[in-house]
Amino acid sequence: MKKNKANEKILEIKNLHFSYGPIKAVNNLSFHVNKGEIVALLGANGSGKTTLLQTISGLNSAASGEIIFKDENITRLAAEKIVQRHLIHVPEHRQVFSTMSVFDNLHLGAYHHYHQTKKKNVEKEIEKLFEIFPILEERKDQLAGTLSGGQQQMLAIARAIMSKPDLLLLDEPSLGLAPLIVKEVLELVKNLRDQYNTTVLLIEQNVFASLKISDRAYVMQHGEIVKEGSSLELLRDEKVKEAFLGHAVG
Ligand code: ATP
Repeated sequence: MKKNKANEKILEIKNLHFSYGPIKAVNNLSFHVNKGEIVALLGANGSGKTTLLQTISGLNSAASGEIIFKDENITRLAAEKIVQRHLIHVPEHRQVFSTMSVFDNLHLGAYHHYHQTKKKNVEKEIEKLFEIFPILEERKDQLAGTLSGGQQQMLAIARAIMSKPDLLLLDEPSLGLAPLIVKEVLELVKNLRDQYNTTVLLIEQNVFASLKISDRAYVMQHGEIVKEGSSLELLRDEKVKEAFLGHAVG
């Protein structure tokens, strides 16, 4: 991990609550992410991971608690205001604009800062991204809907990078992908952090693969954090191995 001054926090969650009627999906949850880290959020289906990311990005409105991003309380901000602060959420099921080309999808990623960034500069940024995602350059004129699942996932992540995220929330980027492609996508996430110093909060069912690329991890159960530690510690933890063995890849 790239070291940042005194582990500066970019995101801090304090006593957060969100319920669907009687279901406490996020229950008095506190945790933080330091600048430049990749933090994995682990937990069985239904433990509240997706709801947590949706609450951080403003898609759900927290019942109580605080979300502090870059020293600002964003708990009550609308989702579009949160995006403007460069907190970018890539939801499950990679939502690319399937009837638009790969290139146009990437252009749209720059939409919210287009007034500050000249078209020429946006195109330069796309060229730079193509060095990390060569397959997207090969397919740049192709309609996004005709790409394979793995390529669409790469496009969804690349489009998010075009939004210049300070914090990227990734919800199960490997969903439905073959194990080899999963590794490729997760390695890419790590490369992006190394090249752009983007901080990443990652939900991933492939526990071992995500612990291998992350710095720290939290384990959720019934809307609460039940374990936390460095990814290396959790990789060696017998209870974590036992609980998640079924989800291992390579
Ligand atoms: P998965 O890995 O399956 O996506 P998760 O850890 O992301 O699971 P959530 O999807 O956040 O968990 O679900 C947390 C709890 O909230 C579960 O009990 C789930 O059934 C419930 N839940 C999720 N979405 C809704 C909804 N739209 N309406 C009502 N209950 C919901």
